[in-house]
Amino acid sequence: MKRTLITGAAGFLGSHLCDRFIKEGHHVIAMDNLITGDMRNIEHLMPHPNFEFYHHDVTKFVHVPGELHYILHFASPASPIDYLKIPIQTLKVGAMGTHNLLGLARAKGARFIIASTSEVYGDPLVHPQTEEYWGHVNPIGPRGCYDEAKRYQEAITMAYHRYHGLETRIVRIFNTYGPRMRLNDGRVLPAFIGQALRGEDLTIFGDGSQTRSFCYVSDLVEGIYRLLLSDYPYPVNIGNPSEITIKEFAEEIIKLTGTDQKVVYKDLPQDDPKQRQPDISKAQELLDWEPKVLRDEGLRITYDYFKNLPEERLYEDSE
Ligand code: NAD
Ligand code: UDP
Repeated sequence: MKRTLITGAAGFLGSHLCDRFIKEGHHVIAMDNLITGDMRNIEHLMPHPNFEFYHHDVTKFVHVPGELHYILHFASPASPIDYLKIPIQTLKVGAMGTHNLLGLARAKGARFIIASTSEVYGDPLVHPQTEEYWGHVNPIGPRGCYDEAKRYQEAITMAYHRYHGLETRIVRIFNTYGPRMRLNDGRVLPAFIGQALRGEDLTIFGDGSQTRSFCYVSDLVEGIYRLLLSDYPYPVNIGNPSEITIKEFAEEIIKLTGTDQKVVYKDLPQDDPKQRQPDISKAQELLDWEPKVLRDEGLRITYDYFKNLPEERLYEDSE
C-alpha cells in the first residue's frame, strides 16, 4: 500500500486531495496546523482505517514514522486576505516548511509535489500565461510574501531535484473553487456567494475589468494526480482557460443565487493582477488532461454546498 503525506490537509484543496488518495487506496497521513484550515473538511475521513491526522506546523521539524512514497505539500495560506494577515507564516511555510518536507522526502525516498500558483507570474505581461514566462512580481508589495514564498518554493524544489536527484513535481494552480472553501476567506467566489446569502451587496474591487479563469476542484485534483504520476519535473499549469471579468462573474453569481442585491465598487487592492488565464498546452500534451466541468455546473454544485451550510457559518470569521 502506498503511504502518502498531504500537508494543508484540512484546507480546501488538501481535503479534496485526501479524499482522492483514500479512494485510490493509499494510506493517507494528513498534516495541518489549522491556521486557515478547518477539521470539518476532513472529519468524515477520521474513522477511516487508512487515514491519520497530525496536528503539526510544518515550519517545525517534520517527523513521520514508517515509509512514505509520496509527499504533497499544500500547506500555505492561499487567499490574499489570509496572507496579508499572516505574511510571516506565509513566507515561513513556503520556505522553511518546503525545506523540511524536501528533507523528509529525501530521507524517505518519496516523490514530492508542491502546490505552486499562477501568482508566480504576478501581474502578467504575457497573456495567456505559459510555463516559460518568468513573471512580473513586486517582491516588496503586499502580495510579495505569497508570490515570493512560492517562487522560492519552486527554486528549492528544483535545487533538490538537480542536486540530490529527488523526484519532484511542480503544479502551478490557477484560481480553483468548489465546496469546502471558507465562506469568509475573502476570495472572490465565497465572498460573492456569502454576500448573496447574507443579503448584502456584492463588492467588486476596482472597476471589475480584471479577469480570472476559474477551475472546478475535481478537475484540478485530476490534473494533480496525473502530474504526480508523470515523470515531468518542471512546472505545469493546471487551470481552466475559460476567462471572465470579475464584473461578469458578479453578474453570473447574481443570476445563480437569484439575489436582488446589487454590486458596489471598492478600491482595487495594490498589485491585483489585471488578467489571468492559463495556457494549458503542456498539461494537455504531457498528461492528456483538460478541465471537464463547465463554470455553470461547478458554480451550481458550489452554491448548493454553501446554501446548505448551517446559517451561523455564514457569519463565521467575518470581521
Ligand atoms: P486553504 O487555506 O484552504 O488550505 C491551506 C491549509 O494549509 C490550511 O488547512 C492551513 O491550516 C494549512 N497550513 C498553513 N500553514 C501551515 C503550516 N505552517 N503547517 C501546517 N499546515 C499549514 O488553501 P487552499 O486553497 O486549499 O490552498 C492549498 C494550497 O494550494 C496552497 O499551497 C495554495 O498556495 C495553493 N493554491 C491554491 C489555489 C486555489 O485557487 N485554491 C491557487 C493556487 C495555489
Ligand atoms: N475581488 C472582488 N471582490 C471581492 C473579492 C475579490 O472584486 O470581494 C476581486 C479581486 O480584487 C481579484 C479577483 O476578484 O481581482 C480575484 O480575487 P481572489 O482573492 O479570489 O483571487 P486572486 O486575486 O488571488 O486571483
